[in-house]
Amino acid sequence: MNDCLFCKIAAGAIPSTKVYEDDKCLAFMDIGPVVQGHALVIPKEHFANLSEATDEVAAHLICIARKIAVAQTKALGAAGFNVITNQGAVAGQTVGHLHFHVIPQFEGNAHKWNWEARPYGDLSEAAALAEKIKSAL
Ligand code: 5GP
Ligand code: ZN
Repeated sequence: MNDCLFCKIAAGAIPSTKVYEDDKCLAFMDIGPVVQGHALVIPKEHFANLSEATDEVAAHLICIARKIAVAQTKALGAAGFNVITNQGAVAGQTVGHLHFHVIPQFEGNAHKWNWEARPYGDLSEAAALAEKIKSAL
């Protein structure tokens, strides 16, 4: 067993409150929820982050995250949800095993993201960045 917290949870060596499991992934309740009902979806195989995962694993995790999110709306009465992954300390990643957060959002009790738009001075700046991104695909 390696020293990864979520590998230990996937293996059952550390207990978790599971909501879904199959041969490739596990979904369980976040111990420090941003909103009550906040769940995490992880691959059973260790990948440090989304960049390192295979397309197959990434696609499967998104399918399961969607399934959990829809269940949160049906069963908990959530009016919406956020599905996110944090990659790298700069983005807020604290556990080095790929995970998607599935966060239900309730009317009147929504978690507010500090989502502050910083518009381009000129749209040519966006075009230049788009060209750089395209060149790396
Ligand atoms: P990150 O900051 O890496 O995007 O998210 C890690 C998440 O894992 C946090 O939301 C944190 O509350 C959750 N977490 C950390 N340790 C445990 C644990 O032992 N059990 C569970 N269920 N969640 C954990
Ligand atoms: Zn791991």
